[in-house]
Order: sequence, then C-alpha cells, then structure tokens
Amino acid sequence: MGDGVHTPGLYAEEDVVGHWTFPGPNGTIRVSGGGLEVALAMPAGRAVVVGSGMAGLFSTRVLSDCFDEVVLIDRDNIPEAPSTRAGVPQGRHFHALLPGGLNIARDLFPGFTEDLEAAGAVKCVAGQDFCAFRPEGKSYALAVFQPEPRPMGIIYFMSRALLEDCVRRRVEALPNVRTRYRSVVREPLIDGERVTGVIVGGEPIPAELVVDATGRNAGIRQSRSCGLK
Ligand SMILES: Cc1cc2nc3c(=O)[nH]c(=O)nc-3n(C[C@H](O)[C@H](O)[C@H](O)COP(=O)(O)OP(=O)(O)OC[C@H]3O[C@@H](n4cnc5c(N)ncnc54)[C@H](O)[C@@H]3O)c2cc1C
Repeated sequence: MGDGVHTPGLYAEEDVVGHWTFPGPNGTIRVSGGGLEVALAMPAGRAVVVGSGMAGLFSTRVLSDCFDEVVLIDRDNIPEAPSTRAGVPQGRHFHALLPGGLNIARDLFPGFTEDLEAAGAVKCVAGQDFCAFRPEGKSYALAVFQPEPRPMGIIYFMSRALLEDCVRRRVEALPNVRTRYRSVVREPLIDGERVTGVIVGGEPIPAELVVDATGRNAGIRQSRSCGLK
C-alpha cells in the first residue's frame, strides 16, 4: 500500500498502522487519523457533496483531485461576504482553528494563513495568549485547569462565517468544482442497493460518489426511499 493505490477487494481492510481502506470500482478511499485520501486508478466522473459547511468544503477540495467534476450543493443562499446563515445556526459563535485543522488547511490551500490574517482572524499562541475562567479559577486551557501559561502552538480565532468564507473562496476557485446553492437535496438516487446520485428540485444528478455533509441536520440520511436511518 506504499504508493497509496491498493488492489480492490471485497471489504474495508485495516493495515498495520490503523488506516481503513475501502475498495471501489475506480480505486480506493483511505481514511486515517489524519484524514481522507482518495487513490483512483482511472478518471472517476462526478462526485456530489451535499452541504457546504466545513465538512462539505474540505471534502470538495479533496475530491477535486480525483474526480473530473465535483458538484457542491447547499440549501442556503450563501452570502457573498462573511455572514451568518440559516443552515449553520452555530455560526453566530466565534470559532477557534486548532493546530491540527490549521495544518490540514495549509496543506490543502497553500497560503491559507495569509488569507485568514488578511480577513481579520486573530493569531494566538495556545496555552499562553488567552485564558478562561473555570470553576477552579483562571486557566490557560479550556478543557483542563491550567493556572500557569504553557505555550502549545498557533491557533486562530475568528467568526465561523469568516473561516468558512476563506475556505469557500479557495474551493470555488477550483476549475472542476461547480456549486449549486439554494438547492435542497431531499432524496438520493438509488439503483438497487447503491446510491447513484441525488435529486435536486426533481432533477436527478447522477454521481459516482455522494458525500452527505449535511451536519447534524436531518439531511438526506433519513430518506425513507433508501431505508437509511
Ligand atoms: C457554540 C458552538 C461553538 C463551536 N466552536 C467551534 C470551534 O471553536 N472550533 C471548531 O472547529 N468547531 C466548533 N464548533 C463545531 C462546528 O461548528 C461544527 O462541528 C461544524 O460546523 C460542523 O460542520 P459540518 O460541515 O459538518 O456541518 P454544518 O456546519 O452544520 O453544515 C451543514 C451544511 O449542510 C447544509 N444542508 C443541510 N441539509 C441540507 C440538504 N438537505 N440539502 C442541501 N444542503 C443541506 C446546511 O445548509 C449547511 O450549510 C462549535 C459548535 C457550536 C455549536
């Protein structure tokens, strides 16, 4: 599995370092603690990503390396500038981008930290530059009581809308990404036991791969037509 391309088999397989590999008709999808890797042996047609929150945007970026076209669908009217929107009610709260997520964003979007800073995100040293008040008192960590500063890496604070807007601009600039906003997906397309696309406003959109990134919303997973719960 050294080159990332693995001969398709019947089931997901776990290799010695704990990566899961799912064989598919065109190659493999590999999931590890670090993220998602898609290794395809041949051009793979279209992927559809439903939901353009953080999960949907990052999925679209990864899949754009492997599919001829990625269609990114969201029910919301996506604002042109950073702003809250109905589909992401938690967007009213400020968000922190921790070192793990920041490193992934930098890898996928070179120069991403410059984008964030130009847009107004606040750069901090975790464990040192900010504190919280826990029941035990002033703490330099949120999850545990840490009364003394202990530097632990760079994080950024910003509104969720600002973060999402920076990622969205990069994703929308990809040549093989097409967006369909103000479009609700209520049902997947089904052929036998396979999901073969989605239906948007009565129009079928066939796809080789469908990613449900609708967050904690009811999304398309509860569709009775495919018997999923
Ligand atoms: C108060 C609060 C503070 C938080 N702070 C942080 C933080 O500091 N750092 C951090 O990393 N995380 C934080 N989180 C968590 C973070 O906000 C969520 O984990 C993240 O938003 C989930 O992203 P997602 O893309 O999976 O889903 P969502 O952001 O929920 O996106 C789902 C998308 O799918 C669309 N959609 C839904 N159904 C359909 C449909 N049928 N058809 C088409 N589109 C559809 C929606 O419009 C939406 O755009 C916080 C959460 C809360 C509640």
